Amino acid sequence: MIPATTFKGKRVALFGLGGSGLATAQALLAGGADVIAWDDNPDSVTRAASVGISTGDLRQIDWSQVSSFVLSPGVPLTHPKPHWTVALARASGVEIIGDVEIFVRERRAHAPSCPFIAITGTNGKSTTTALIAHILSSSGRDTQLGGNIGRAVLTLDPPKDGRYFVVECSSYQIDLAPTLNPTAGILLNLTPDHLDRHGTMQHYAEVKERLVAGAGTAIVGIDDSYCELIGDRIERGGHKVIRISKRQPLADGLYAEGSTIMLAEQGKTSMLAELGGIQTLKGSHNAQNAAAAIGACLAVGVSVAEIRAGLESFPGLNHRMQPVGRRRQVLFVNDSKATNADAAAPALSSYERIYWIAGGLPKEGGIASLAPLFPRIVKAYLIGEAASAFAAQLGDRVAFEISDRLDRAVAHAAQDADEDTEGSVVMLSPACASFDQYKNFEVRGEAFVAHVAELDGVTMLIDVPTGGR
Ligand code: ADP
Repeated sequence: MIPATTFKGKRVALFGLGGSGLATAQALLAGGADVIAWDDNPDSVTRAASVGISTGDLRQIDWSQVSSFVLSPGVPLTHPKPHWTVALARASGVEIIGDVEIFVRERRAHAPSCPFIAITGTNGKSTTTALIAHILSSSGRDTQLGGNIGRAVLTLDPPKDGRYFVVECSSYQIDLAPTLNPTAGILLNLTPDHLDRHGTMQHYAEVKERLVAGAGTAIVGIDDSYCELIGDRIERGGHKVIRISKRQPLADGLYAEGSTIMLAEQGKTSMLAELGGIQTLKGSHNAQNAAAAIGACLAVGVSVAEIRAGLESFPGLNHRMQPVGRRRQVLFVNDSKATNADAAAPALSSYERIYWIAGGLPKEGGIASLAPLFPRIVKAYLIGEAASAFAAQLGDRVAFEISDRLDRAVAHAAQDADEDTEGSVVMLSPACASFDQYKNFEVRGEAFVAHVAELDGVTMLIDVPTGGR
């Protein structure tokens, strides 16, 4: 845990007692703050009180005594409208911050030069974060990984010289971290998302920009116009910017030429890494993630040899285009995290002959946007509530069956792929939420893995989780 020593002796109000809220309250207490915590859910309040956190309705407290208000990132700060606690804090002129801000203050106070890499963007955050942490730890560095992925940032080990922090930040966390100052900050890409919480694309982009605007080195993916403008703007502001592109050569920066990552600097171009043989980094989206990870690692002093070794041994993240098993010429791929058509597109673009398992709880638009990728699909196996709607969208362009359930889809797809003499993949990339048949996308992915493991003669490439179905 990172004790929040910079709040010692201060009165801190906190709202939101989920996992990260509880951890934040405990870090504040450990640092010597006088904490008063609350939540709209009485069970969360009871649970916090039972572990020694003092609780109280924040409508009843004397806000003039409060020096900081800590809000959980899940609670609306601005849109659709500020939470009632936000209005109370603002009325008394109390700063509103989150756990990432507490982390950056602790780092500044105790180990300002310990390397800190922060990652944001609409897509690819977790992959990039995990990849950077893997490159650092596999090269023997003391590495802490957390934030919006895995562990809440204040549950990590405290900042100290020589310790590396790799922290994924959602836009909500950035919004609550006014002095965020990573050594290297990554903004991967920006597409409309979470606009329910940010109101407009412009506001969403402004929030994301803050992460790179405060960074020692800003690493910016310039393949969309929002990020391109942000890169230019912060460079004009005097910041060091490393540009990333997955689709065009750059005069200065890191870019992908197919699966090769190139570095252009001071008029010279060199080959930095080859991703072609790395199953866990397939696809141009992963070229963007890898280029950004490389830029960040270079910025904190990792050698090219260490970076290459880390890329090659990257185990990938579960449920994201994850190769899980092989039988003869057929590869089984778990992409359960693809909960909408946009997220399924990279996976479908990454393979040529696909036995595609799709469906679940449909999102607006279904799979219409995937039509250009239909020629890659040999046959589709449709499950869940979306099955008949997807069948209608496939029409006579793609062969399909309505399998209804995942176990049947896996069995049928595996058999068909087995009879196909060309190499192919059986891939779960549902383009749907999971909630009609599963608790969440993780449980759905684990069920897929378990069904694959049951096939005769399959070699599993990962450990099979227990209790997946
Ligand atoms: P996030 O943490 O931002 O949600 P993940 O790394 O978990 O991102 O990837 C989630 C999904 O988003 C992947 O399965 C893939 O389909 C897609 N994706 C990953 N990286 C990118 C990228 N750089 N650009 C576009 N889509 C991506």
